[in-house]
Parts: sequence; structure tokens; C-alpha cells
Amino acid sequence: MNRKNFLKNSTIATAGLLLPIAVVASGQRTKKKVIVLGAGLAGLTAAWELVQAGHEVIVIEARNRSGGRVLTLREGFTSGLTAEAGAMSFNDNYFNLFRYVKLFNIPYESLKSPAIRSPGGNTVYHLRGKRIVPDNGKINWPYELKPEEREGSITNKYIQPLLDGMHDAAISNSLFDWARSIDNKTLLQLVAENGASAGAQEIIRVTTWYCDRQGKASAAWNLLPVLQSIRSKDVYSFPGGVDSLSTAFTIRLGERIRFNAEVVSIKNASNRVEVIVNRAGKQESIIGDRIVCTIPFSVLQNINITPSLSAFKKEIISGLYYTPTTRVFLEVKKSFWESNGENGSAMTDLPIGQVQKHPMIKTGREGERAILESHARGQDALQLDKMSNDDRLKFTLEQMSKVHPDVSDYYEGGISKSWQLDPYSLGAYSLFLPGQINKWLPEIIRPEGRIHFAGEHTSIYSGSMEGAIESGARAAKEINEI
Ligand SMILES: Cc1cc2nc3c(=O)[nH]c(=O)nc-3n(C[C@H](O)[C@H](O)[C@H](O)COP(=O)(O)OP(=O)(O)OC[C@H]3O[C@@H](n4cnc5c(N)ncnc54)[C@H](O)[C@@H]3O)c2cc1C
Repeated sequence: MNRKNFLKNSTIATAGLLLPIAVVASGQRTKKKVIVLGAGLAGLTAAWELVQAGHEVIVIEARNRSGGRVLTLREGFTSGLTAEAGAMSFNDNYFNLFRYVKLFNIPYESLKSPAIRSPGGNTVYHLRGKRIVPDNGKINWPYELKPEEREGSITNKYIQPLLDGMHDAAISNSLFDWARSIDNKTLLQLVAENGASAGAQEIIRVTTWYCDRQGKASAAWNLLPVLQSIRSKDVYSFPGGVDSLSTAFTIRLGERIRFNAEVVSIKNASNRVEVIVNRAGKQESIIGDRIVCTIPFSVLQNINITPSLSAFKKEIISGLYYTPTTRVFLEVKKSFWESNGENGSAMTDLPIGQVQKHPMIKTGREGERAILESHARGQDALQLDKMSNDDRLKFTLEQMSKVHPDVSDYYEGGISKSWQLDPYSLGAYSLFLPGQINKWLPEIIRPEGRIHFAGEHTSIYSGSMEGAIESGARAAKEINEI
């Protein structure tokens, strides 16, 4: 595929908005037997679309559940409480996701609704050893800043001009050319070139949701989700848990999904494919015409594929970076922070990372109880992984006390989830380093023989549910058009 056009081929870019890719129903040539590897959102979408187009589909899933990195935790807390260990929210620009939300009639709610979470309240900060509460929206940053950086917002000063550029590019229908043009640098390099002091860069790295903790991603990787969110009217989640989405597909795909079946090797012959699966200690062979592979590259690098994939694809599969993320969930008797005019969330440079409240959406079943979650990324997540579960909870509670001094009085217990220790993800989500959207993404998407690639890591909207769903629909379309 011509690299320059690869993105426009997988989505329809209209005035910069990504519309859902055409679903596969028309133009089917021959009925095929398709083996879909993985029952996360990418695999479920691909399977659903292929079934709609009349193909025979088998989905192979290593875990005993669908959803992959969509994981609503319902156990380990007092009855009725839930928390999201993976994806939590989405916005109006998740066009592909909305297609299925509407098709399956899945209830969703705005996070702004007062019925859903406490309206207003301050997000607190813990930076350079100090707890900081905004005073009428103004934050006294504990960094050395230029005098003009003390006035107004750092993000307005340094990020907004980049977003304005993105907005103009979107209007002129050259969004992806714009993304390519900032792909070779990190976000912190870009803002430094525009005059941001070291202190201002630190504010962007530590206190924004879109900058990766290590500040090492491509600026395009950081800013494309920001474009989605600033052009959205609202942010949403599912009152029934985010797994309502994966479950809606799973129910409809029924027995086509084989659970507890781990792919151990793949043969990509010229006339057929063969997948060897380990089920309850026994190896089974499944033969088909095509494969949709949604297994994260972090896991795929350990699966034997014959004949060997191209050297470039193999280099990418073993080299693609996956962000380590460990989430620790502390259950508390009540949302005690509300009486202090706070909303529970915190941005910190502590080793526990950012703090947020669960459940995202109140269902009424949880009573007064709530969960404070710490979201550690990068090296901080790897340090937490070295601790026993008890020590991790103890350590998080100590650190959380710096953010929420009263937390110990309300603490009842907790659980944690490390995505890099999970053998079927080995990391939270892919992260493109500078230059990789330009150089790697077209190659990641390119099918090899009878294997088609999908999954969040194969989408311009990597690291999101939208990216996973967009890629699954795109892979189904590729197969249907053969
Ligand atoms: C902590 C965290 C927070 C997030 N927050 C958000 C958010 O708020 N909003 C948002 O839009 N997105 C968010 N995401 C991203 C989103 O969850 C993912 O991009 C998306 O769910 C990935 O879907 P997927 O199908 O590509 O991969 P997966 O969900 O990982 O699916 C791959 C499937 O393959 C299976 N598999 C792996 N190895 C094998 C094997 N050998 N054999 C058989 N099966 C195998 C896995 O079990 C899995 O089910 C978050 C992710 C994480 C981890």
C-alpha cells in the first residue's frame, strides 16, 4: 500500500473527522473460514463484521473471558462496588465505537452528569513534596518558571498553539499530514522549542493526562487523543461497566468464541493457515483461509510464525514499546474528600502516579462506599510490581495519605492490577516513539500472506477502544474484499 495514503485508506477523513469505515457487507467475493486471534474489542469487532458478511468465523481467546484490556472489576470489593482496570471512558469522536453502542443499544452516560459523580470540587496536586490545592483555579507551581509562565495556564500557553495548528489542519483535511509533521519529536521537545522552561515542561509531563510519564512518545501520539477530546461535546462511560460493550459482542458471537485457548504457533502457508492452540494442556490444530491477528505485539513476539514474517515486521513486533501501568484500588467507607470541596482526583509526582475515583458512574448499588485508584506508569509501575500484594497496598496507602491525609481512617482494603505482569497483554498499551507513526505504522498494518493485523497497536488512535474497534473493522474489510 502506498504509505502516504495508508491512513486515508482505513478511515474516511472528512474535515478532519474520522468517520466509521464502511462496513463489510457489500462486495464479498467468496465465503472464507477466518480464525480471529484474541477476543478483545479488535477481535470481537472483526469477528462480528465477518459473520455479518457471511464468513465462517472462529475466535481463539487465551483467557476465560472476552474484553482483553477492557476489564470491569466486580470482585475484591464490598458487594456492589466496581472499578475499571482497563479502558474507562470515551468521547463523541469515537465514531467507530458509537456505531456498536447504537447497534447493540448499550446504555452510556455523560461523566458530567451530577447523578454520576460529584459535581465540581478541586483536583489536588502533590508535587515536589507539597500538597497543593488550587486557589480559585490558580495553582502555585513549585517549579522555577519564567515570570510570564506564572500568569495564566501553561497548557494554554504552550499546548493550545499546537492544537490550533491541529485544528486548522483538520479543517483543511490534512490532519494526518499534520500528525506526520510533528511525529519526529517528543511533546517536550516541541514545547521547549517554543520557549517552555524546564519547570513548564515538568508541569506538562506530570500534570496532563495526555503526556506519557517518561515524556518519550511522539508528539503526534500525545496530541491526537487531545484533538479527539477537545472537539468532543462530552466524555462518557457505561453505567453497567465498560465490559457491557465487549459482552454485547460476546453474547452475539456465542459459541464461535473458544475460551481458555492459547495460540502457541501459526503457519502462514500459501494456500491456507494453521493455528496451533493449547487447550487444557492439549494441542489442537485449527485450519482456515485467513487469520485476523489482534494479539498485542508484546505477546506475539513469543509466538512462532512460519514461514518467518518480513524482517521489518519482526523488528517492529519485538521493538514496539508497551507502557507499563499498575493500578492500585483502595476501597474507602465514603467519599470523604467531598466535604473538603475536592473531587477525589489528584495529579502527583509521587511513585503512585495519578489518582482518580471509582466507580466512574454511580449505580446506587455501591451505597456510600467508593474507591480511590492510583495509576502508576513507567518505572513507577515496575517498582510496584516488585512488591508483594500486601506491601503494594501498604505502600500505596502511605503515599495516598500525602494526597488525601484522612484516607487511613476510611480505608477498608484493596486490590491491584499490573498490565505488564499479565501474560496476555505484557503492557498496558502501545506507545509510538518519535518517527514511528511515519515509519512503523504503515508496516504494522500491512497484511503478510494470509495474516491480517488488527488491535489498538495497528491504529492511528492506538491505546484506545476506538483504535481497537477501527482496526477490527478495517481488517474484516480487507478480508472481505479479497
Ligand atoms: C490501564 C488502561 C487504561 C485505559 N484507558 C482507556 C480509556 O479510558 N479509554 C479508551 O478508549 N481506551 C483505554 N485503554 C485502551 C483500551 O483498553 C485498549 O486500546 C483496547 O481495549 C485494546 O483492545 P485490543 O482488542 O486491541 O487488545 P486486547 O484487549 O488486549 O485484546 C487482545 C486479546 O488477545 C488475547 N490474547 C493474547 N495472547 C493470546 C494468545 N497467545 N492466544 C489467544 N489469545 C491471546 C488477550 O487475552 C486479549 O483478549 C486503556 C487501557 C489500559 C490498559
